[in-house]
Amino acid sequence: MGRVLIIGAGGVGGVVAHKCAQNPEVFEHITLASRTLARCDKIRDEIKAIQGRSIETAQVDADNVAETVALIHKVKPQVVINVALPYQDLPLMDACLEAGVDYLDTANYEPKDVAKFEYKWQWAYRSRYENAGLMALLGSGFDPGVTNVFCAYAQKHLFDSIESVDILDCNGGSHGKAFATNFNPEINIREVTQRGKYWENGQWIETNPMEISQMFDFPGVGERKAYLIYHEELESLAINIKGLKRIRFWMTFGDEYLTHLRVLQNVGMTRIDPVMYHGTPVIPMEFLKHLLPDPASLAEGYTGKTSIGCLIEGMKDGKRRKVFIYNVCDHGECYKEVRAQAVSYTTGVPAMIGAKMMLQGHWKKSGVVHMEEMNPDPFMEALNLHGLPWHIKEL
Ligand code: NDP
Repeated sequence: MGRVLIIGAGGVGGVVAHKCAQNPEVFEHITLASRTLARCDKIRDEIKAIQGRSIETAQVDADNVAETVALIHKVKPQVVINVALPYQDLPLMDACLEAGVDYLDTANYEPKDVAKFEYKWQWAYRSRYENAGLMALLGSGFDPGVTNVFCAYAQKHLFDSIESVDILDCNGGSHGKAFATNFNPEINIREVTQRGKYWENGQWIETNPMEISQMFDFPGVGERKAYLIYHEELESLAINIKGLKRIRFWMTFGDEYLTHLRVLQNVGMTRIDPVMYHGTPVIPMEFLKHLLPDPASLAEGYTGKTSIGCLIEGMKDGKRRKVFIYNVCDHGECYKEVRAQAVSYTTGVPAMIGAKMMLQGHWKKSGVVHMEEMNPDPFMEALNLHGLPWHIKEL
């Protein structure tokens, strides 16, 4: 029925390709393209061996709009799934507009030279997508992504009014390495070293990095310390969840991770500006990325679980209500199913489901669209079907 072009063959891209391959009734034809063809071919061979399906692969530099447009014309997909890096969001949105095809991603655009997490660059495409009758679905991973859909579901079914949302993200797993990041190291370190920020009573409040922390009891994992950080879905949810008074994002980090990060920052290894080294400009963060384990390589032998959800408080039928909507995902099980760890899996499955919603016509809207603007019901049903079952705990 559908033709899809997946761009990016890292940890997440591999999961998206496997999950699309598991659903031939929706994804009849799959092409996986990335900067390094060998990585696409490795995933193609794994998919043949595990899922028994053949997919196409291609080489593309997604920063080059003309190259991507030519590939889109050749593959003729109905949707392009962007699971390359946030730097590629704008050139890929340009390419989709030019080729007349729907677009989906999992992370907001970031300029290379400043670590800034804002939707303004992608929101600027609204009228062009509307006028072209095309859909650009932003942030169809877990967080952003599933967390936005959990909020929409709570708004539709569980509350008359929502007052506060706390998004809680815990990776309680162990990859056995002294220091590694679970998704692209450059993007991950830029995200966690920025200043904290949350939204309350119509205003953004800034904090120092990791200044505020709290213990939470995460289902499936147990008590962990979570730190308040800024995360991109806060920006759209603060607008789209009507009546909201406060929204915050919390992520757990182990002491060992934070110590490594502090040292790397203190010695200048997380800098994103070029440093002259023997006459050659070197960006320390890019060099660090080169030294750190590839996130996809962490999958084998990864143990433990992720536990991510939304703690939501508000009013229902005149009474106060507090619920936690969450998913628990096991690293080892993900490896068995698609050769990935749970952070890649929890991002790749919702990307596939977002594309499925678009291809099946459950989600159709012209313009630049956030997940919480769409009907949460078919997406929530699909999460249960495709490996990310969710639960509601009444508190
Ligand atoms: P990886 O670094 O493992 O993979 C990125 C892939 O993109 C690589 O295959 C890389 O190619 C490819 N790529 C980079 N630049 C280009 C380019 N110019 N043209 C074509 N391909 C390119 O990252 P992850 O798989 O861990 O993450 C993928 C995305 O998912 C990121 O945007 C990340 O922010 C997002 N994410 C979202 C989450 C969510 O819950 N919403 C959670 C986790 C991640 P090469 O192999 O040549 O380097």
